[in-house]
Amino acid sequence: MPNALTDSAAPAHQSYPCDACGAEMRFAPGGGALICDHCGNRQEIAAPGPWSNALKELDLAAALSAQLPIEETEQRAPLKCPNCGAEVVLEGDAHAGKCPFCATPMVTGTGAQRRFKPRGVLPFALDERTARAAMTQWLGGLWFAPSGLKDYARKGRKLQGIYVPYWTYDAATRSSYRGERGTVYYETRTVMRDGKRETVQVAKIRWHPVSGRVSRAFDDILVLASHALPKHYTDALQPWDLSGLQPYSPAFLAGFAAEAYTVPLEDGYDEARAHMDAVIARDIRFDIGGDRQRIHAVDTDISNASFKHILLPVWMAAYKYRGRSFRFVVNGLTGRVQGERPWSAWKIGFAVLVGLILAGALGYAYALQQGAL
Ligand SMILES: [Zn+2]
Ligand SMILES: [Zn+2]
Repeated sequence: MPNALTDSAAPAHQSYPCDACGAEMRFAPGGGALICDHCGNRQEIAAPGPWSNALKELDLAAALSAQLPIEETEQRAPLKCPNCGAEVVLEGDAHAGKCPFCATPMVTGTGAQRRFKPRGVLPFALDERTARAAMTQWLGGLWFAPSGLKDYARKGRKLQGIYVPYWTYDAATRSSYRGERGTVYYETRTVMRDGKRETVQVAKIRWHPVSGRVSRAFDDILVLASHALPKHYTDALQPWDLSGLQPYSPAFLAGFAAEAYTVPLEDGYDEARAHMDAVIARDIRFDIGGDRQRIHAVDTDISNASFKHILLPVWMAAYKYRGRSFRFVVNGLTGRVQGERPWSAWKIGFAVLVGLILAGALGYAYALQQGAL
């Protein structure tokens, strides 16, 4: 397997010196360029070749049997989080230290590993300030969040930009199926109710055996390639508009962290297959038609299965508050926010109390008006 090879000579990260002053440059969200915070120099990122070729899918069967050319892989030595297991590569002058996902200090990993190179990257469109504003607004709307946390979020550490690893899968499927089509009909029956005879309509289903074929071309089935973030977080960041994917260049990552994939290609494919099977079952039900459908057997041929490894941009904050870890993630493209919402028991208690007092006061006013007091 390509990702089982190790080589301790691989670099931990690349450097992007400014050609004007030599300071470290970083990728500027919202544009295809590196900027130098020291002297303001700007360098466009050169596209690494024709787009259609650069973003082409790789053959899945060849990859699974480790037949892919070595150029499709790269060796990196990621830092490893001993708590959540995230493996993170830092580009340029991105700061090492704490794990971006759980705020635990990271340690040097077991050495360089050979992994599939990303094919595409969706560069950050929102800068840190915009992302933080989106998060602050989201938090500000949560009246029940503890004030201490809001303050922390407002003036606390900066959000960290991290590229999260995904697999995408394409495949053409042809499925033949056997099943049954159900047609609803009604029978009139006579029943006794309260000692009287009544006629009622009873729904019944007549089943007919059917068989047929359906086919579909799947494009870019997206599968999260890491376990560092709970799936409900990353699911909530969807939808991702993949039309902005750029051919991978490490320069897009300058000044950011990139998580290395930890879900193997074949495990990701299992998840993609489950998604495909669900879509195929829906296609078959539609093909069977009628009022009800039963599926007894499906035989699916898959051809042209291919994959890409891509990186998607997420701004995130992970911190500990009163002994608990909290996380916020912001889609680096759309600004959509998702996070854990700690509620303040004090504020909730206070709100309930105010509600009771108001209800009491209203009741008192009502009684006065009625002349009862
Ligand atoms: Zn410079
Ligand atoms: Zn971690």
